[in-house]
Amino acid sequence: MIIDCHGHYTTAPKSLETFRQRQIDGLKDARLAPAKDSLIIGDDEIRDSIEGAQLRIQRERGTDLTIFSPRAGGMGHHIGNAVTSALWSGICNELIHRVCTLFPKNFVGVCQLPQSPGVPPANCIAELERCVNEYGFIGCNLNPDPSGGYWTDPPLTDRYWYPLYEKLVELDVPAMVHVSASCNPAFHFTGAHYINGDTTAFMQFISADLFKDFPTLRFVIPHGGGAVPYHWGRYRGLAQDMGKPPLKDFLLNNVYFDTCVYHQAGIDLLTKVIPADNILFASEIVGAVRGIDPETGHYYDDTKRYIDKVDWLSAADREKIFSGNVRKVYPRFAARAAQ
Ligand SMILES: [Zn+2]
Repeated sequence: MIIDCHGHYTTAPKSLETFRQRQIDGLKDARLAPAKDSLIIGDDEIRDSIEGAQLRIQRERGTDLTIFSPRAGGMGHHIGNAVTSALWSGICNELIHRVCTLFPKNFVGVCQLPQSPGVPPANCIAELERCVNEYGFIGCNLNPDPSGGYWTDPPLTDRYWYPLYEKLVELDVPAMVHVSASCNPAFHFTGAHYINGDTTAFMQFISADLFKDFPTLRFVIPHGGGAVPYHWGRYRGLAQDMGKPPLKDFLLNNVYFDTCVYHQAGIDLLTKVIPADNILFASEIVGAVRGIDPETGHYYDDTKRYIDKVDWLSAADREKIFSGNVRKVYPRFAARAAQ
């Protein structure tokens, strides 16, 4: 079985975006704010939005199932306040639940959290519990920078985040570290802000002792871990200078990387530097980079093709990358599959 651990509902019906725009307009003029029940999306609309894109691509690329969450760029935690984020997250998560209910063999849900800059993450616990317990979701996306490029909240290792971590541990679900849109013009959102977010989270983990306090807490760092695998020597050296244990012992029981790296040399490096036990297959379709690479004639985000070409991976390593590690990192996936 081939499981893509990182997919977003980027093809959601247009009325979702219209609703969001009205919600944003309503922040300036309350008379424009839409009622929650004014958004009506039929099952057929959801089917059409999935079958034409996500499902077709799954079939074409030979993957079986996608761990699916709301569009990351659309989370927009910097917009409005906690009430804005609560309504928007609830709507987006419900749509993911409906996709997973309509296509139970192809999608399993992961939720967006109703974060807001300056609002303690404990505020997200109720929505996380609702999504896991009522919808059967198996994880969440956690934004390390709800400000959208200004990094105004404490680092992920600060006690500010601990109540949410306690709930993640209790529910036994991991978090994918995933920023949303950038409102800082210095950072292109998918080209710089995303990669910054991934890299920054890893360095935050090195700088503290978070996993002493939470030995079973698990994070997936997407986009191949940002700059981390490429600069593994730098991070090992920094950890060493700080008197930390070797990274393998210090972080790799808790931190995992996906394969959303869009060229062969990048995947080659990832699989040489990071142990197969810590790599999860992902492509982030339909996502950040949608074109065809003229050098190969294949889609940049057809990441399975790159992994298939890595000849030093054993059959056991491949099995871990394509599905075994998901069962380990997302135990609720395994529990669901066993039902
Ligand atoms: Zn993503």
